Amino acid sequence: MRILVIGAVAAGTSAAAKARRNDENAEIVIYEKDHDISYSGCGLPYYIGGEVEDISQLTPRNPKFFKKKYNIDVLVRHEVLQLDTEQKALTVKNLQTGDVFIDHYDKLIIATGALPSVPQIKGIHQKNVFHLRNVQNARDIKAFIQNNKPKKAVIAGTGFIGFEMLENLMAEGIETTLIEIQNKITPNLDEDVATYLENILSKKNITIMKNTAIIEILDDKVILDKGTELDCDMVIMATGVKPNVSLAKTAGIEIGITGAIKVNDKMQTNIKDVYACGDCIETFSLITGKPVYQPLGSTANKTGRIAGDTLTGGSLAYKGNLGTGIYKLFDLTIASTGLTETEAIAEGYEIAICHNIKPDKPKYFNGEEMLIKAIADKDTQRLLGVQIIGFEGVDKRIDVFVTLITYGAKVDELFHLDLAYAPPYSTTKDPVHYTGMILD
Ligand code: FAD
Repeated sequence: MRILVIGAVAAGTSAAAKARRNDENAEIVIYEKDHDISYSGCGLPYYIGGEVEDISQLTPRNPKFFKKKYNIDVLVRHEVLQLDTEQKALTVKNLQTGDVFIDHYDKLIIATGALPSVPQIKGIHQKNVFHLRNVQNARDIKAFIQNNKPKKAVIAGTGFIGFEMLENLMAEGIETTLIEIQNKITPNLDEDVATYLENILSKKNITIMKNTAIIEILDDKVILDKGTELDCDMVIMATGVKPNVSLAKTAGIEIGITGAIKVNDKMQTNIKDVYACGDCIETFSLITGKPVYQPLGSTANKTGRIAGDTLTGGSLAYKGNLGTGIYKLFDLTIASTGLTETEAIAEGYEIAICHNIKPDKPKYFNGEEMLIKAIADKDTQRLLGVQIIGFEGVDKRIDVFVTLITYGAKVDELFHLDLAYAPPYSTTKDPVHYTGMILD
């Protein structure tokens, strides 16, 4: 069996590795148009800020590694130009030599990921304007900072990449302003939680301009839609991503309602022997069962593994997303999972909500305030979603909530959880217990 994979970052390499584990004899080839493979995109902001000193720490694997460990051929700087599902053929261009050739598959995995969604504003192609999607983008941003010593930056977008870049540009001593086109920051939080975060950030002297769009970028400033101008030496567009589906779409592969490739829970597309995984696919909500586009590394790895398993005869099946996310912002951690209040109402749930503000540890262990907003379904008493902002232990609490939501816990069950307690970590009744007690 000859398995071809398009894309060699999180999903494509997970799929190929799982296929190899299941099938010792298959020929497995990955085509990747980029130079870097199997890297940690999530670590890129920390390379820019200097916490990760050497970019090779984020790109620990190369084609030799895949050949030696898995007997998988990874052909970098090879772009797949066309897919013919009738002939089971790919047209591939070797970007180094310019040669174009045809390769045939028995099974194909599309793992073409996502592309930055950058608005086409005047000046967007200037040398001081960047987005951060891959290793080369990170190298370019780092080189610009080293060579040009920018003093002021503007970041468009207040999702996790915008905030991670804020922290890391500030670590480089660059005065940074965030611009947000919406009337609230950060998409995964409800307005009240977003305001709570904004208040903390304003105490840290972070400038965020909401309801504002950049209309033009110049060498030394941006022009905003309100007619004002902001001095700045560099701009980061952190305005989201879109699924990279043009190859699949042209080949007749079905695209779902979210604009990403439609797959079933085994990562099969509508075309026989063609599978897709990672940031190019839509998955479904664990809560509502409806299609969602939630491009995350955690999901890309999982869906990649399932694709590799399915095409080698395995029985893994996807169980759905909660869209769980977490990020660090200075000494804060922001996390969310499941439905927001706004989403739950839009889905027609009659909801109960709580805003639980408690210390994460006792005062004598320097406990600090943690906000947990939880949303539950009044009818079934089930938890639907949680948002947390705090200083320590946010990661632990969000994952407890993820587990509870995944297994359909009811709010009165939270109090009875036998959670770990010792003063350096928690309070005798944990903030998770209190959340259940308030909601019940
Ligand atoms: P991609 O990483 O997009 O890889 C797709 C690959 O396919 C690309 O290398 C592309 O060159 C190749 N390709 C596309 N078309 C072709 C073609 N025609 N021929 C050949 N090759 C092709 N996720 C989290 O869960 N947690 C985080 O903290 C987090 N932080 C992040 C921080 C940053 C700055 C970024 C950029 C992302 C972050 N993510 C995070 C998201 C995570 O990195 C992605 O979800 C993950 O990389 C998706 O993997 P993928 O393999 O599906 O797609």
